[in-house]
Amino acid sequence: MNTDSFNLIEKGSLGTCWYGKYHYIEPWAGCAHDCAYCYARHRSVVAGKLSETGNAFENPALLFPLDALIKKIREGVRENNVKILKLSRYTDFFTPSFVKNGTSAAVLEALCETPVERIIITTKGAPDDNIFAVMKKYREKISYNAAVKPESAYKLEKGAPETITRIEAAERANRLGVKTTIHMDPLIPAFDGLESMPRFFAELKKRGLTRLMFSFLLLNEPIIASIQNALDKSAMEKLLEDFNLSAARKFLPKQDETVLYSINDGLRKAYSEKIGEMLCREGFDFVICSLKSNRGEADTRPSNCPACDGTFYA
Ligand code: SF4
Repeated sequence: MNTDSFNLIEKGSLGTCWYGKYHYIEPWAGCAHDCAYCYARHRSVVAGKLSETGNAFENPALLFPLDALIKKIREGVRENNVKILKLSRYTDFFTPSFVKNGTSAAVLEALCETPVERIIITTKGAPDDNIFAVMKKYREKISYNAAVKPESAYKLEKGAPETITRIEAAERANRLGVKTTIHMDPLIPAFDGLESMPRFFAELKKRGLTRLMFSFLLLNEPIIASIQNALDKSAMEKLLEDFNLSAARKFLPKQDETVLYSINDGLRKAYSEKIGEMLCREGFDFVICSLKSNRGEADTRPSNCPACDGTFYA
C-alpha cells in the first residue's frame, strides 16, 4: 500500500492560515457526506488511495484495521511532535459509517490521550453519544466547527445530516464547554439568499451559538462537473453567473490542484458586508475566512468583516 502520497499524519501546507504549524490526520479516504462541491474527491492523492482500496469516494475506506490505525496514530503523534491537529483535510471525521461503528469515537479518544494540545474538528456530521462523552472529557483540547448554513432549495450534501441536526450537535458541544464555531461554508450567493440569514442567526443565538465564520464556494472544472450532476440546468447557470471563470487563482503554493475560481469580487464584497452588518447587529463574534474568501486587492474585501488569522476557530 502506498502511503507516501496519502499519509496518515501530514504537516499543514505552508501558505495556509496556520503557516505550517499544524498537522492533519487522514485516518480514512473518502466521505459518505458526498457533497457535490467536495474538492477532496478530485484530489489525486485521494483518488489514488481509493483506486488502491477499490472504494467509491462516498464509501470511505479505513487506511488500516482499527487497532493498527490507533497504534500508528499514537506513535505518529509522538514521532512528529504534533501539537495542533486538524481533522481532516480530505474527509469528514464524523462521516456517518465511522460514527455508527465507533471508529470516530475510538480514534478521537486515542488522539485526546496523546500529548496533542489542540484538536480542530470541522464537520458536516453529527457526533453520537460516545463521541460527545469523549468531547466532554477532553473539552479543553477540542475545537468544534460545525459547517452549517441556512436551508436552501438546493441540497448539495446528499449524505450529510439535516441542518437542524448539525445545529443541535453544535449546541450540545458548546454546552459541554467545547469551543464551538459555526462555519457557514460554502456560501453560494445564488442559492443562499441573504433573506434567509436573519432567521438562521436568530436560531443560532437562541441556542447560545454566537461564534461564526463564513466562506464562499470555490470551483474548478471537476467540481463544476460534479455540481452539474446534482442540479438542473437553470440552477447551474444561476450559480455560475456569479463566478469569475476567467481568473483562476492558486490557493495553496506548490499545489496545482488548488487552482480555483471565486465568485466575482464585487458580489463577494457586497454580500459579505450585508452578512457583516447582520452579525454585528446581533452581537456575533465573527470572521470571514482569509484563505478562501478574503483574497485579492484591499478594496475588494468587505469593510466590516474581520479576517480570520487562523486562530479564530482553533
Ligand atoms: S463533508 Fe467535506 S470531505 Fe465530506 S464530501 Fe462534504 S466536502 Fe467532501
